[in-house]
This record gives sequence, C-alpha cells and structure tokens, in this order.
Amino acid sequence: MKLLLIRIGEVALKGNNRRTFENALSRNMHRALHNLSVDIKKIYGRFFVYLYDEEHFYTAIERLQKIFGIVSISPVENVPLDPAKIQEKAVEVLLQSISTPFSFKVEARRANKNFPLTSPEINQEIGGYILNQIPASKVDVHNPDLILYIEIREEEAYIFHHFYPGAKGLPVGVSGKALMLLSGGIDSPVAGWMGMKRGLEVEALHFHSFPFTSERSREKVIDIAQSLTDYHPKITLHIAGFTEIQKAIHTTCPQSMGVTIMRRMMFRIADKLAKKRECRALISGESLGQVASQTLESISVISAVTELPIFRPLIGLDKQEIINNAIQIGTYNISIRPYEDCCTVFLPRHPAIRPDLEHTEKIENNLDISTLIENCLNSIETITLQTSY
Ligand code: ATP
Ligand code: MG
Repeated sequence: MKLLLIRIGEVALKGNNRRTFENALSRNMHRALHNLSVDIKKIYGRFFVYLYDEEHFYTAIERLQKIFGIVSISPVENVPLDPAKIQEKAVEVLLQSISTPFSFKVEARRANKNFPLTSPEINQEIGGYILNQIPASKVDVHNPDLILYIEIREEEAYIFHHFYPGAKGLPVGVSGKALMLLSGGIDSPVAGWMGMKRGLEVEALHFHSFPFTSERSREKVIDIAQSLTDYHPKITLHIAGFTEIQKAIHTTCPQSMGVTIMRRMMFRIADKLAKKRECRALISGESLGQVASQTLESISVISAVTELPIFRPLIGLDKQEIINNAIQIGTYNISIRPYEDCCTVFLPRHPAIRPDLEHTEKIENNLDISTLIENCLNSIETITLQTSY
C-alpha cells in the first residue's frame, strides 16, 4: 500500500464554498482514479489516497497532477504517535530514498499539542537518531540535500520528503459552465484549459469549412479536445459548418472587413449555442495585439454581438508564454500539425486593424444574418470525448 497526501488550494475558502470545493475535488479524484485500486479519504481539510497496488504509483501521480484544485502531492509514511516508531520509520524512509553520503535536516510540525515532544525537540531527537544510525549522513540546516518532514497529527504522524507539484486552481465544476471557441490553433486550447483551471466546466465549439478545410483539420480539433480530457474528463465538442457563412461574407463584404465579420458571426452563433447548453460565458483564445483582429477596436466590435461575457484568459500573455503552456498541457504538438483552419482559407491580405462598429453593422446589412445563423446551428454535429481510462 502507498499513501498519498493531497494538499488542496484556495485555503481562504470558507463554509459552503469550501464544501463545494472539496466535494467537486473528491468527485474528480474518484473519476480520475476509478480503475485503480484506491480509497480516498478526507482528513482535516486534506485528502489521502490509499493506493493498494504499488505498481500504479506513477500512473496515479500523473493523473492527480492534472486535477485542478490540488496544490501538491506527497507520498507519505504513516506512523503511530510513538517517538520510537517515528524515528525508526524516519531512518527507513531515508535509507530507501538516498544511498550516497547526504546532508539532511528534520522539519517537524506538531499540530497535535498532546504529543510529548515540541517541534524543536522532535527535530533534535530524530536528527540525532538518524546521525547515529546512518553514518553517511550529516546535518545541514541551511542547504540540505533532503528535508525530512514530520507532521504530528491527531491520530498519527506522517513522514515525507518529496512534493509533486499539483495543477492548482479550482476543481472543474465549481464555477459553472462556459463554451470555448476551439480552433485548431495553439491559443484556444490554452484558453480553455485556463478556464478549466478556474473551475469552469467547459464545452467546445469548432467551426469548420468543409471542403475548404480537410477531414484532417477536423480530426486535429477532435484530438486537441481529446487531449484536454486529461484535465476535464468529459468534453462535449460541437462542430459547426461555416462554409456557407464564409462564402456569403466573401461575396458581399469588402475583403478588409472579412475577419471582423467572420468573428462576429462566430460569436453570435456561440452566444446562441451557449444559452441552449446552459453555458454562462464564452472563452476565446484571443490575446491583445497579436494579429489585426486582436486590437482593442477589433475586440470591442467583435464583443458587441454577444450578450454573454467573453473570457479571454490569454489577454496578458506573450506568444512564447502561451506556447510554453501549450507544451506543458500537451496540446502543442497537435496544434502545430499543418492543416488549414477555416480562418486562413479566406484570409484577406490587408484586414482592417481598427474597425468601427457603425461601419461594420452597415456592411453586415448585406447578409441574411438570421438565416445564416439558423443554418449553421442546424449543421452542428455534437460528439462527446472522454478520457481513455
Ligand atoms: P488560435 O491559436 O486559438 O487559433 P489565433 O491566435 O490564431 O488563436 P485567431 O485565429 O484570431 O487567433 O482566433 C481568435 C480566437 O477565435 C481563437 O482563439 C478561437 O477562440 C476563436 N476561433 C478562431 N477560429 C475558430 C474556429 N475555426 N472555430 C472556433 N473558434 C475559432
Ligand atoms: Mg487561429
């Protein structure tokens, strides 16, 4: 059996919020570990995972590291509240983890004030015992190779020295539901992931322009959504046909306004679909200043068509920071596959950088907007993606 201590975030949460947070986290952990032999228990504001099959240690750690709401994970040894047993276990743990001569320090925390030794006394006693038992060890309080943590709790003591970083954030599901506009690019999956990180449940909407965009570019988006299921176990992906709209824009609107109007159509449709799916916000991968459609003027003209708030989690990130995130999340290698996106197909050479709302609306009078939206909504194909385990 291996015991994992799960530290949870947002410690400022109180009362009901705290309970909602813990319940969602517990649900998400059960879901992620459902086919491993485990028990999950909440003890004094933290979780413990009892992993019965040690072979699954790294699998469990990897899955837990993708669950939002977890700050860090430590494999721990639990010991009865008996100083003799604690020091024996401390030596055992050290011998298992390090072989060459090493320096260490003991850092005890006594949450249980009934324990006979104070924290400094524990540090001294156990440190001394370790030095005696392991001749290759020495104490270094400033820059040790290893810090051995000893936590004295109500029912037992925990010994550990390693922290696997968690994904942090809030558990998926505690912040309501949003619809993300998912292209095949690098940015939008990162934006969706950031929404998930703040506890949003997320559905995805993708526009494709078959036959101008290929089956491959559709598959690419499905693969991106699939890879996000590591963080959000079930993703509903809506794929909408955008060809008719792009043709209509291309034939009736000045080329320079194509991108702005195309984005406005996308957001109108997203707004309608979101309401139907009980999503209360939209998420987009727009940043600021990256391309012509991402100036403040463009963003405000585009935002004017929706009633729901649009979250743009990437607004303050540089491209390289977004790329680093995409690599970490695991979407980057899919996003750079070279298939065309619907936006690139009809891309004008000189898009308007500072569109004006009145002017844009005037041009749009040439489009039968409600019919185009209706047809697009009717074309939607919905697929559900789930983790492969
Ligand atoms: P991305 O890498 O996410 O495509 P980008 O930097 O290429 O972003 P744009 O192409 O201007 O920026 O797209 C801005 C945002 O509009 C995207 O992040 C995405 O949220 C949405 N979007 C663009 N194309 C599509 C599409 N085909 N389907 C759904 N949403 C899209
Ligand atoms: Mg794009």
